[in-house]
Amino acid sequence: MSSELELIHSEVLECTKCELHKSRTKAVPGEGSHDARIIFVGEGPGQNEDEQGRPFVGAAGKFLTELIESIGLKRSNVFITNIVKCRPPNNRAPRKSEVEACNPYLRSQIRLINPRIVCALGTPAITTLMGDEYSASRHHGKPLTKGEVTILPMYHPAAALYDASLKETIFHDFQLLKQMLENTETLYPSTPKSSEPSGSKQTLEKWA
Ligand code: URA
Ligand code: SF4
Repeated sequence: MSSELELIHSEVLECTKCELHKSRTKAVPGEGSHDARIIFVGEGPGQNEDEQGRPFVGAAGKFLTELIESIGLKRSNVFITNIVKCRPPNNRAPRKSEVEACNPYLRSQIRLINPRIVCALGTPAITTLMGDEYSASRHHGKPLTKGEVTILPMYHPAAALYDASLKETIFHDFQLLKQMLENTETLYPSTPKSSEPSGSKQTLEKWA
């Protein structure tokens, strides 16, 4: 399973499926545990990420790391990626065509890691994973279960970083994430994921 993920990562590094490949320094496939129970999905690499080839390493990344640690986890316990793997020039929002071109990589990452919870950070990630009618302001902290996987929409850490009330909200939503994870652990008591029935994957495939 892990080697399939590595294959996707090497495809991303050489990908030319959308315009964003022209201006990138390094593509940013994502990083973390291949056996993660949570995947965090952001919008796209910024300048620091583009330079380093790693997700969430700038100011927003520092804050995301703090949020992850606030629920007793480490970055290495989770998987972190974005809806587009290459930086949009001047940090503009990724275009729909770019998100669509890149989406198969995200779908494969989710299918192969098979997490319990996919945490969508910010409205672009939320609409990509849940549908155009969803947004961070209206749906943050309201999980939606599809098959065996639950999607939890949240504000983007960059939006919450300099806004005291959003900051409080996102810390609160992380406590909810912690609670949800504890509940799924009870539902699926430490079964090694590889020995779970393969039927669960098929459910995931429908939406992932
Ligand atoms: N913001 C994102 O959405 N993704 C990153 O990787 C970094 C900042
Ligand atoms: Fe390929 Fe995605 Fe990068 Fe576009 S953003 S070039 S689809 S990896």
